[in-house]
Amino acid sequence: MMKDLLYKSTRGGGEALTASRAILLGLADDGGLFVPERIPELGITPEELSRLDYKKTAFSVMRLFLTDYTDEELWDCINGAYDSKFDTENIVELRRAGGAYYLELYHGATIAFKDMALSILPRLMTTAAKKNGVSEDVVILTATSGDTGKAALSGFADVPGTRIIVFYPKNGVSAVQERQMVTQRGENTAVVGVHGNFDDAQNGVKAIFEDAELKARLKKHGYIFSSANSINIGRLVPQIVYYVYAYGRLLADGAVSAGEPMNVSVPTGNFGNILAAHYAKRMGVPIGKLICASNDNRVLTDFFGSGEYDKNRPFYTTSSPSMDILISSNLERLIYEITGEENDPSACAAYMRLLRERGRYSLTDAERARLGDFFGGCASEKEVSEEIGRVWREYGYVIDTHTAVASRVYRDYVSSTGDVTPTVIASTASPYKFAGSVVEAICGGRVPGDDFALVDELSRVSGTKVPQAVEEIRTAPVRHTRVCEKDGMRQAVCDILGIK
Ligand SMILES: *Cc1c(COP(=O)(O)O)cnc(C)c1O
Repeated sequence: MMKDLLYKSTRGGGEALTASRAILLGLADDGGLFVPERIPELGITPEELSRLDYKKTAFSVMRLFLTDYTDEELWDCINGAYDSKFDTENIVELRRAGGAYYLELYHGATIAFKDMALSILPRLMTTAAKKNGVSEDVVILTATSGDTGKAALSGFADVPGTRIIVFYPKNGVSAVQERQMVTQRGENTAVVGVHGNFDDAQNGVKAIFEDAELKARLKKHGYIFSSANSINIGRLVPQIVYYVYAYGRLLADGAVSAGEPMNVSVPTGNFGNILAAHYAKRMGVPIGKLICASNDNRVLTDFFGSGEYDKNRPFYTTSSPSMDILISSNLERLIYEITGEENDPSACAAYMRLLRERGRYSLTDAERARLGDFFGGCASEKEVSEEIGRVWREYGYVIDTHTAVASRVYRDYVSSTGDVTPTVIASTASPYKFAGSVVEAICGGRVPGDDFALVDELSRVSGTKVPQAVEEIRTAPVRHTRVCEKDGMRQAVCDILGIK
């Protein structure tokens, strides 16, 4: 028997746990994020990799991280997750347009990349509960900037032994995103609009997780909390898979030969998706630059430029709402990695305390020097719109607003560096999820009509089919109408669970 790969907190507290226990807990007891004690080597030859389909790639990667799951358990999770819920047999597609490769991660049930992880997380979690003899129901608490919420609701709906409560910023998500959530079916689902922005919702959820008194009360009522946010290691690991898969596809297509690097450009919010690419690189996938693309909320662009993380700045609501974030939670895992040769959890914890208390921290020069693999860039609203229009006109290919941020920043990167390494652009949402902005960008001006009219207009203009996921919510009845204030989230949870 190989020794299990264990997970420890970025802040140094608590004991190291197996993968299944880390997945159940979501967040470490000291408020830190779970990180693997080491990053395993992929150990697959390029020839093999170029022949693996998505599910086999998933198995090859996940078994290295989730070592306390049996092969059979993992295959059950993988087969249950990546099935006909996806509208392409390949699960993800790689499309070449204008010298770049768009990795379409939006073929799942909710037409955004969150499905890649959230269709498998409930299975990993219920398997983990069984393995660890947990008899309580798992209550999933999630803050969403739009796409996580729906993907989590859809993944957990009617999964026995689970409840799910999703908080979203009441005026901070697209109309299609909101409608997707408030029409969610499933007896175990609840959706709450918060009067505040995404960071307020996320901070509220974090505070509930850190509330020991509430935790104890919950336990008495037969519940434990867990998180489906991208801070859960059970979200991060399935996301590593598609970068490994993308490299295999580039190999198969002859776009790179064995060992030649690819760059990746990732539209970034909470830093989960790009961190997964970084982990893929550490596993041995030849990835060169990791291009971290932001919208007007360019806190990460500034961070990679200066080494200072400063969230004290105006918050912008943009056409790429899933990236409207000033506190990128998963960055903590990278900070942990670069603070000291041997990972110094006290240094990471100190930065996170500064972030909480002053809203900013600055890396030392030595720490900054370890960020050389990353390139931070950002795209304004105008640039995003131009990029959608340009990609459509030049290549007849329609991309959504988030993907456009990454696409635009990639082009800026190439013009400023001359680096023409084959590049994979993470395409994180179907254009139909943000039809209004996309139609406007393609038509070059405002197009009147409600959301669903714009969906039809996008279909007409682009000659592409409206995805089933959008058709479904046109007529579905609204089932969730609860709203609360920022400081009312704890009470909402108690009300929903029927706890005094
Ligand atoms: C969540 C999301 C992102 C940001 O991903 P992170 O992992 O939070 O950085 C980008 N695009 C879309 C469409 C998303 O839903």
